[in-house]
Amino acid sequence: MLKDIGSMTREELQEALKQWGEPAYRASQVFGWVQNGVKSFDEMTNVSKKLREQLIQNYYISCAAIEKKLISDYDGTRKYLLSFQDGEAVESVLMQYHHGYTSCISTQVGCKMGCTFCATGQSGFSRNLTASEMLAQLRAEQEDAGIRISNIVLMGMGEPLDNYENVLRFLELVSHPDGMNIGMRHISLSTCGLVPRIYDLAERKLQLTLSVSLHAPNDQIRSRTMPVNRKYGIGQLLQACREYIRQTGRRISFEYAMIDGVNDSDAHASELASRLKGMLCHVNLIPVNTVGGTGYRKSCQDRIHRFIAVLEKAGITATVRRTLGSDINASCGQLRRAHLKEEQTE
Ligand code: SAH
Ligand code: SF4
Repeated sequence: MLKDIGSMTREELQEALKQWGEPAYRASQVFGWVQNGVKSFDEMTNVSKKLREQLIQNYYISCAAIEKKLISDYDGTRKYLLSFQDGEAVESVLMQYHHGYTSCISTQVGCKMGCTFCATGQSGFSRNLTASEMLAQLRAEQEDAGIRISNIVLMGMGEPLDNYENVLRFLELVSHPDGMNIGMRHISLSTCGLVPRIYDLAERKLQLTLSVSLHAPNDQIRSRTMPVNRKYGIGQLLQACREYIRQTGRRISFEYAMIDGVNDSDAHASELASRLKGMLCHVNLIPVNTVGGTGYRKSCQDRIHRFIAVLEKAGITATVRRTLGSDINASCGQLRRAHLKEEQTE
């Protein structure tokens, strides 16, 4: 079976090519080609034909093909449905901010976590993505839009910490100076709160931004909307977050989807504020994106502003997330879901 060369670190490639008698610098050249997006081994012009043939016989290069693309009329946000060699597809979104381009990529095909408000969570789980498939999403977007991505958020389909090894490998590769060279400070990882993995990540002391999808001020509401909370309750989760902050010195960003009549009252805001008191954190409020069939509606503007006022009075900073691409259903999971439905009706 062919091996996935795009998920290999430089050291692993050096070790593998050493078996063929190749010097370390040769492996570094191959690593550079792969990490800079060649689509075939024949593009490696400074590598001998013999070695290229050996590579072809043993390895493959991951690519992501564009199945669908939607471009927002409002702000130019591009949403892609990208497929891999086995036909599985995920969504990625490319957004333009004043400081550059941010890509929101997927880490799994589907998700096991089953959050009730989330389109991805409602369509089940197929498989984990490899590190090279995460990188391939970035490359497909860069090539299509003719731009360079400067920031990455792991906030597409899937739960990154449920695909921990591959995500860490991706982080190492994407930040490598001979690869895309996107520094950890330009990367955010969003999790629904897999507590043991938050401790593992804390130990790595990476300088990325951790976003925690909280979405509720207490266990009662959170267990209803996020099944993961039945395993790791809010108390445990916030304890892990405190440890993460202590180890990394990084501020945590708490995501909070505002759902009309579910988690958006002043009392909920006070409860949230008292739980987050004293933490190095920021709260990001997101008017919930209505996903077909869930029955959730977004809170109105006025409610959101009053919620912020309560938080701020208690000393917790909060902002409303700018929603980009709202005309193209830019929140992840929705395009694939529509695509799956289309396939079923064909
Ligand atoms: N699995 C990870 C990352 C992917 S989801 C996580 O849950 O954090 C990315 C973000 O989108 C999360 O904060 C998630 O809670 C949020 N989200 C999912 N569905 C949403 C919806 N319908 N409206 C608003 N935010 C949503
Ligand atoms: Fe999975 Fe995140 Fe969606 Fe929950 S919100 S189902 S963890 S992708």
